[in-house]
Amino acid sequence: MRAQLRELAPWLDATDVGPRAVDAGTCDRCGQRPRLLPTCGPAGWPALCRPCAAEVGDDGWCDGHLDEGRAARAWADALPDRWADVVVAWWVATGEVRLDPDAAAERVRAALGDGT
Ligand SMILES: [Zn+2]
Ligand SMILES: [Zn+2]
Repeated sequence: MRAQLRELAPWLDATDVGPRAVDAGTCDRCGQRPRLLPTCGPAGWPALCRPCAAEVGDDGWCDGHLDEGRAARAWADALPDRWADVVVAWWVATGEVRLDPDAAAERVRAALGDGT
């Protein structure tokens, strides 16, 4: 499953950003979407999802890491809109997250429901 995912979503190969760079779980700011980008922590959120990283902007990174922060956000901006599902699928594939059947069904409903 991991090899398949990496083929479908080559951006999973990144190791300094994305699901390999952060602990599995939800964003430390909104608690809604999966973590995607590690920060160096000046604002108190160790890892952020894409929308939160965009909202927090430069404040999520210290002065010494503004370039890294901008590069990380640019990387995140280029991901497909369904990035969150791919991130969760990755963690399931690596065993970092166990999806219980109810949560899985919920996710499928949400995926079908959000259309195009
Ligand atoms: Zn968030
Ligand atoms: Zn820093």
